Amino acid sequence: MPVTHVVGAGIAGTAVALGLHANGAEVVVHEAGAEGDADAGAFLAVAENGMAALARLDADAAVRDASEPLRQLLLSAADGTEIASRPLGSADGPGYRYLTRAALCAVLCAEAQRRGIEIRYGERLSAAETTPEEVRLTFGSGAVATGELLVGADGVRSAVRTMIDPAAAPPRYVGHRVYYGYSDAVGEPVDRIHFVREAAATFGAIATEREGTWWFARAFGPALGRAELAAATTRSIVAELTELLSVGRLPSAIVSASRRALVTNAYDLANVRMWHRDRMIVIGDAAHAASPATGQGASMALEDAVALAEALRDGPDLATAFASYELARRERVEANTAASASM
Ligand SMILES: Cc1cc2nc3c(=O)[nH]c(=O)nc-3n(C[C@H](O)[C@H](O)[C@H](O)COP(=O)(O)OP(=O)(O)OC[C@H]3O[C@@H](n4cnc5c(N)ncnc54)[C@H](O)[C@@H]3O)c2cc1C
Repeated sequence: MPVTHVVGAGIAGTAVALGLHANGAEVVVHEAGAEGDADAGAFLAVAENGMAALARLDADAAVRDASEPLRQLLLSAADGTEIASRPLGSADGPGYRYLTRAALCAVLCAEAQRRGIEIRYGERLSAAETTPEEVRLTFGSGAVATGELLVGADGVRSAVRTMIDPAAAPPRYVGHRVYYGYSDAVGEPVDRIHFVREAAATFGAIATEREGTWWFARAFGPALGRAELAAATTRSIVAELTELLSVGRLPSAIVSASRRALVTNAYDLANVRMWHRDRMIVIGDAAHAASPATGQGASMALEDAVALAEALRDGPDLATAFASYELARRERVEANTAASASM
């Protein structure tokens, strides 16, 4: 049977592998990193639409077991005054869940392997060529693989995107950095995300059942250079944020009790003009990355995976399947990227 190659064992890659495998395809996933090496830093919410997509892949129970429920959103001013509060999720829907990115990737990888999908770690795609009959992949190690289809799920700095369109624009810095961390502070309800509108940053925190409080802060400013990112430590990040946040309020109390903190620049990728060419297609952040504001990156990647697997199952040929996939997805994901940028 001709092989479908998926590049990237992140959220989109593992999820699309599950969908394709359920359709009877032979799938091999190639991941540049080592097994268990997913970024342990950030945490994320899987929104109801993401949980619904996981249910279509029959992977929702595994994710539910590895995550905690998120039932309420609270927005307050820096002085603690409540601005807004609303329930998250519908009464009869699957609800929102939160977990680390690493945990989500680990669950999906384990689920893929349990179903017999091969994941090859330490294989970084460096080139791909297509002919009318096949696609030929070359990896950094010199290894070569051939198959009928290449799905690029290789993230915001996707190599597959530029293999499809060498003139593809690079990701855009959206004007803020994202700080996130893990704090020993306790006290908030465990099923609530609490946003605090500070003058210099938007702060968010989720109290966990057993691991203190997970927090993030989005602060406007120029992008940090490579050396600055590499030099940032928990101590330097806590000191920097303590300067930015209001003295004696909840965010600074949570940040100052951090046992680990990290910082990254926020990028997005809007209006990527070519998602596919010949036997290659990109999905997830490789095709449309949003800044973290709407909290939909993982859920959109999961929806993509379901939609592509269905389009390939139902389409008479690749060109028709790619076209119907793009029709189903482009407007929705671009609206999310634009909404996130405007927040
Ligand atoms: C700080 C932060 C907070 C966030 N918060 C949220 C949130 O609350 N909710 C939410 O839904 N989303 C959130 N996101 C976004 C979310 O993490 C991404 O949208 C999601 O991870 C995209 O999944 P992906 O599979 O497309 O890409 P990725 O998760 O980036 O996976 C890409 C994979 O491809 C591999 N790869 C790359 N290049 C190659 C290559 N050449 N060969 C082989 N493998 C390769 C990488 O190693 C990686 O494993 C957040 C992001 C950040 C940075």
